[in-house]
Amino acid sequence: MLSQNTNDVNRDRAYADLRAKLPTWDEVADAPLPAIARAIRHGGLGPTKSVRLREILRTLRDRGIPLDERAFARMRSAALWDLLVGLKGVGPKTAACVLLFSLGRPYFPVDTHVHRVSRRLGLVPEDADAVRAQELIQEGAPPAEVYDLHMLLIRHGREVCLARRPLCSRCPVNDLCPRIGVVGAR
Ligand code: SF4
Repeated sequence: MLSQNTNDVNRDRAYADLRAKLPTWDEVADAPLPAIARAIRHGGLGPTKSVRLREILRTLRDRGIPLDERAFARMRSAALWDLLVGLKGVGPKTAACVLLFSLGRPYFPVDTHVHRVSRRLGLVPEDADAVRAQELIQEGAPPAEVYDLHMLLIRHGREVCLARRPLCSRCPVNDLCPRIGVVGAR
């Protein structure tokens, strides 16, 4: 949630500040909203994110989920997915990030880079929105490859298949790409 509408540097700063000022998640859940908003202000949208963050933590705690490293660890993936996407402010990308990065489960998040690259490469239809793209890749990717595929597509989108001027002439998969020469490549 802290990464929404900001960059990686400010997200990391907001997270570090939050953990320094309110070291446990129970403390965050019990803190006044202005204190949370102040702690995460470097990530932007502090007042909005503080409301969502505290509400989520309180909701989880009310359901008997401990707010520490034991949270979710014993939950089955399908049930956890349903729980996460039912929380206000948590969409499919965020839910998949929790499952993949925090718990090592084979769930595939689609961010802006993955969305763009997967459409250009024809992995998903051109008109698939990010949610549909995530569903399709999730269905098709071998579970053991999900983490690497996600990381490589993001890297490809950041370094080669750029949004405005993709570097098609030096793209390592340009022989597979149906979009080469169509998207303002150089
Ligand atoms: S050939 Fe160009 S459009 Fe296709 S994946 Fe490579 S960089 Fe992207």
